[in-house]
Amino acid sequence: MGDKRIATIAVHGGDQVDKGHNAIIPPIATASSFIQENIGEYGEHRYSRVSNPTRYAYETALAELEAGVFATATASGMAATALAVELLDQNSHVIVMTGAYGGTFRLFEQLSKRTSGTEVEYLNLNKLEAVEAAIKENTALIWIESPTNPLLELVDIAAVCEMAKKHGVLTCVDNTFASAWNQRPIELGADMVMLSTSKYIGGHSDVIGGALITGDPELAKRINFIKTTVGAIASPFDAYLALRGMKTLDVRMQRHCENAQIIAEYLEAHPNVVEVHYPGLKSHPQHALCKKQMRSGGPVVSFRLKGDLDTVKEFVRKCKYFVLAESLGGVESMLNHSATMSHASMTKEERENIGVYDTTLRLSVGIEAVEDLISDLENALG
Ligand SMILES: *Cc1c(COP(=O)(O)O)cnc(C)c1O
Repeated sequence: MGDKRIATIAVHGGDQVDKGHNAIIPPIATASSFIQENIGEYGEHRYSRVSNPTRYAYETALAELEAGVFATATASGMAATALAVELLDQNSHVIVMTGAYGGTFRLFEQLSKRTSGTEVEYLNLNKLEAVEAAIKENTALIWIESPTNPLLELVDIAAVCEMAKKHGVLTCVDNTFASAWNQRPIELGADMVMLSTSKYIGGHSDVIGGALITGDPELAKRINFIKTTVGAIASPFDAYLALRGMKTLDVRMQRHCENAQIIAEYLEAHPNVVEVHYPGLKSHPQHALCKKQMRSGGPVVSFRLKGDLDTVKEFVRKCKYFVLAESLGGVESMLNHSATMSHASMTKEERENIGVYDTTLRLSVGIEAVEDLISDLENALG
């Protein structure tokens, strides 16, 4: 994993030097504009849409964290995805991992198709031969997400990227769930990493943000041009908060993932649980890939309760520490009911076809004492 260990990068990564007062953390620079010495003489920053000292400190840290050379911090994860899609020419063909984030699906289906004539095809990227066969003259991008939500299917990132490269097709990995702590897609051959930093980078459920990161200097120039042109940037306040969160990424992720493994094993052995989806379990069909590609099984566990929607409602009511909420990635444990939340736009039949039942629950396992989380689940399952 690169030259510096991820825990050290999370604290010291990038260029966080405060050129004004040598402050130990980068100050929040709210200035919209920066004074020029004279005509034609520019300092490091000119106008904050283009670059800003706080955002710069955070972006350079993010780039190093993901083993890239450039990161742009955006107003949300979706803004980062939109930025990546803006790289494409009109009428491009894009292959997207089945089960990708709902917002990604909406962006392609309800926006990009209409505004840019994008042709979008959803394929299981693990069927590599079929994916390769689907590549056409105008195929420009393969959108990878691993693990997926909520069933935590993995994609062999190195294999897909190698194949894509052969055909001159760009690859972007939504690395939101795993985070750089678990896997670094650029090291596995990806051209870009997209992040919702609202999740594990921010880590405290108090900021919405995103990032697009690349290891390719040419792509960096193109992304920076689009960012400057479109302007969906992270504010200095948000950049500060996310960078503050990022500093503890290593200790948080370690606890999140340890707790998740213990909880997945506990649920798998419970008689009131039908099935558990967790890449860190031997029963996960891609456990070997998980061991090859990720540092752990990750911080998210999904499972299916025995019973019906009423059983689920009773379960949710009884949980004390696991709170029902959209999103994930905070220090507090969260529960998500996929059927009525992330997958609400699908019919029951469509959902069941992909394995999401009324009784499927997703846990974003927090950093609380695992004993307390287990007794919370024990009580709710009882
Ligand atoms: C949350 C999320 C997004 C979107 O990010 P926002 O910050 O909410 O815009 C994209 N991908 C995944 C996997 C997510 O979990």
